[in-house]
Amino acid sequence: MIVVTVANQKGGVGKTTTAINVGTALAATGLRVLLIDLDPQGNASTGLGVGRADRSCSSYDLLVGDVSADEGAIATKVPRLDLVPATVDLSGAEIELIEFDARTHRLDRALSRGAARWDVVLIDCPPSLGLLTINAMVASHALLVPLQCEFFALEGLSQLLSTVERIRSRFNPGLSILGVVLTMYDRRNRLTDQVSEDVRAVLGGVVFDTVIPRNVRLSEAPSHGMPALIYDYRCTGSQAYIALAREVIARLPELAKAA
Ligand code: ADP
Ligand code: MG
Repeated sequence: MIVVTVANQKGGVGKTTTAINVGTALAATGLRVLLIDLDPQGNASTGLGVGRADRSCSSYDLLVGDVSADEGAIATKVPRLDLVPATVDLSGAEIELIEFDARTHRLDRALSRGAARWDVVLIDCPPSLGLLTINAMVASHALLVPLQCEFFALEGLSQLLSTVERIRSRFNPGLSILGVVLTMYDRRNRLTDQVSEDVRAVLGGVVFDTVIPRNVRLSEAPSHGMPALIYDYRCTGSQAYIALAREVIARLPELAKAA
């Protein structure tokens, strides 16, 4: 089992869209995938068509309660893609976690029990570097970082990387960067080409070749409660996520070796 956290402390950069669609593409190849929604906003849960009534067990129970990932997971409409949904009480979890001695290892603990039935676990993080994201990083083998193609794309990345460094030295020496994916690429805008070039110059091979284009179908899909990959398989956004998943799969054996 490989655990991958989708993180970036900026909001609206494509974390949830990436988690849902990479998860769906991986499941389509036959892998058993668990998506953990760790954002109190619950966008990954809504985007997978899991309504509030179906969230009797949630990521809050994994963190604050004594529920294992195995007990908290529910099936989605996507074959082989399971979900631990998020509920609004997750927004209070960071405060409640202060009570626990091992507050950084709560998710790791929940995953250590019964999660072996999945091949890949993806964790969709909130837009912050607080205790929720730290729990995800402590429990993970690697990070998948969506970076929006905009002028300030690299701003904030150093903060993310220094958090990764701190997690490595204190809790999880094996935490690696699976890759950085450029999102919301607009080929009609010359600025985004420049940003893409700059990011590759700075970060090198860690950046995936695949770039996710700005595509309205990707933003429509969540309101229909389904991944873009199912809503419109042919759109450029879906095709890009299939290509990205292929690159992710190519990088997994390296992680499995280290795990
Ligand atoms: P995050 O989880 O980082 O906050 P989201 O994945 O929720 O970001 O994306 C923010 C918004 O942008 C959502 O409304 C989403 O549907 C939309 N979106 C994400 N990726 C794309 C894209 N490549 N093209 C167009 N819209 C996108
Ligand atoms: Mg999100």
